[in-house]
Amino acid sequence: MSKADLQRPARERTTRRKAVLFCPTCGHESHARRGDWLVEHRPTDEGDVVAVSCPTCETTLTVEPAFCG
Ligand SMILES: [Zn+2]
Repeated sequence: MSKADLQRPARERTTRRKAVLFCPTCGHESHARRGDWLVEHRPTDEGDVVAVSCPTCETTLTVEPAFCG
């Protein structure tokens, strides 16, 4: 048994779908940028962030720094 074998990536077919987000809670699937996700800008002490939430169950999927021009 080798850990290297287990960690070998076998996802070459997923590259075309990398822009699709999945909700881990309800399974909702939509395009990361053009989908129906709830995108909310939130100011924080370290700068603005963008929170992406599921429109179905309101689970927050990702919180990323906001790059404003
Ligand atoms: Zn959801």
